[in-house]
Amino acid sequence: MAEQRLCLVHLYPELLNLYGDSGNILVLRKRMEWRGMTCDVREVHVGERAPLLGADLVFIGGGSDREQRIVCDYLLEQRDELVSFVEDGGVLLAVCGGYQLLGHSYLMGDEKVQGLSLVDLYTDRGSPRLIGNIAVQSRICEQPIVGYENHGGRTHLGSGIEPLGTVLHGHGNDGTTGEEGCLYRNVVGTYVHGPLLPKNPGVADWLIARALDRRYGKSELVPLDDTEELMANQVMCKRLLGQ
Ligand code: GLN
Repeated sequence: MAEQRLCLVHLYPELLNLYGDSGNILVLRKRMEWRGMTCDVREVHVGERAPLLGADLVFIGGGSDREQRIVCDYLLEQRDELVSFVEDGGVLLAVCGGYQLLGHSYLMGDEKVQGLSLVDLYTDRGSPRLIGNIAVQSRICEQPIVGYENHGGRTHLGSGIEPLGTVLHGHGNDGTTGEEGCLYRNVVGTYVHGPLLPKNPGVADWLIARALDRRYGKSELVPLDDTEELMANQVMCKRLLGQ
């Protein structure tokens, strides 16, 4: 079989990398390499345009309010290309500040940061900040998704938008609905940092599988030995959920 390759575009790593979010790139790359695939990672820096034409996956990490203000203009310049990518089934993972920018807006008091409107959602800032460890049950993977959240923003999903999952421990989108993140086409938005993917290999494989399906047609992922990853996941589940 010919070698399978995927192109992963990492947007603004120098600004959007809270709590080790860039570690998600390493996990995606290694999980492809361990299966004999190649992952070409293209970092896009401020002032550059994202090469979305041949892209398979896009990653947008978290950032402080200040950093979100800086990147939103650069992102908006590429909105049309990002919309086409998402509507064509492109895979996009966005964490926290990046997740908020997928929506229509992020309202901070009387200041409004315009978002990409890739997904029907919006965010406003509340008090107190929602901080701590989090566990989420999602239909995209077997084990609860575990990690860490720290956000002032409260995210509200449009009526047709599915959450990534249900909060088992922690706050999630707004601390009241019991919903966390969003799932729209092949877009995953989430408040889970940590980084997200090392302790949640099922999420990483869901993203890789969606990207392979889109480029190569329906494909089965070879299982990996995830003993260590799952042990790390279980330590958190035990601590947070007692299970
Ligand atoms: N600045 C945003 C908030 O506080 C996002 C923070 C983050 O990415 N952790 O809501």
